[in-house]
Amino acid sequence: RAKGAGRGRCAVFDEEMREQAMRILDLEADLRRAINGDAFIAYYQPIVRLDDHGLIGHEALLRWRHEKRGLLLPREFIGLGEDSGLIEEADWILYGRVVTELARGGDGYISVNVSPRHFRSGDFADRLLRMIDEAGADPRRLRIEITEVALLDDVPRALRMLRNLRNHGVLAQLDDFGTGFSALSYLHRFPIECLKIDQSFVAGLVGESRPESVAVVRAIQALAGTLGIHTIGEGVETEAQRTALRELGCTYGQGYLFGHPGEHIRSAASIAEGYRSGLLESDAVAAFA
Ligand code: C2E
Ligand code: MG
Ligand code: MG
Ligand code: MG
Repeated sequence: RAKGAGRGRCAVFDEEMREQAMRILDLEADLRRAINGDAFIAYYQPIVRLDDHGLIGHEALLRWRHEKRGLLLPREFIGLGEDSGLIEEADWILYGRVVTELARGGDGYISVNVSPRHFRSGDFADRLLRMIDEAGADPRRLRIEITEVALLDDVPRALRMLRNLRNHGVLAQLDDFGTGFSALSYLHRFPIECLKIDQSFVAGLVGESRPESVAVVRAIQALAGTLGIHTIGEGVETEAQRTALRELGCTYGQGYLFGHPGEHIRSAASIAEGYRSGLLESDAVAAFA
């Protein structure tokens, strides 16, 4: 009897595994098709000065408009794409959109995320520079966001790529800073424009884990100060987080407080307006609380 029950459980388990495998295969086939179509779009999220929410740029974030499942976020398909190499192709589609957007004019920069895999292909920098050139975009208005993992994989190669890009005007930002193993001894060697403080620490600035998060942000600020670069706080959702970041010496921020990712580049005026009405709303909520 026990054996029978065990087999039964096993059958259920197998069935679930099979279904999950099928779902992944389906999605991968869809992803392959999407690469050839128009399904990938760039969402843009504003990056602002924390003191006066003046607009300095946007981050481009990849979205996949799936015909049946709706708008998919990177976490729903990036792992899949990274295993199959498809994410690199999706990235190039996105970079193409971004340089076209830059060539249309406007001001401020647009940063794009670069997966560590790109850093493993030797011609990433040259291909990106060629794309910028062909679109007629100003390279100084494009930034790349990379993680520490991408840097440490092959330090000499990463150095070559970043210097090549920097020499042509494309600056690099370190994304999700504080979550990697922060090889401090290497950092000063890389031409890095700024550190993006991971949103987990920004979230932690208010609430129980405040002391730990404050300590981490302080350490990041001290490091940035030594390197002579600035920081961007990620995932700023509340006025309390904005204030805390400012007090700790962080200059820039990105997060729902200033604007959600959306299909269009935002204007400085619309951000200021959105921020003011957001504050009025939260004041109203506070008044009722
Ligand atoms: P990331 O580069 O750290 O991007 C920031 C993420 O935080 C975005 O998620 C953004 O929508 C989200 N976010 C922004 N403000 C807030 C906030 O106030 N609160 C909260 N809770 N979240 C906020 P998204 O778009 O889902 O992207 C997730 C990650 O996927 C990105 O993290 C990045 O690592 C990766 N990714 C996004 N676009 C691309 C791309 O084009 N290429 C590659 N290779 N990776 C990408
Ligand atoms: Mg990023
Ligand atoms: Mg980030
Ligand atoms: Mg992040």
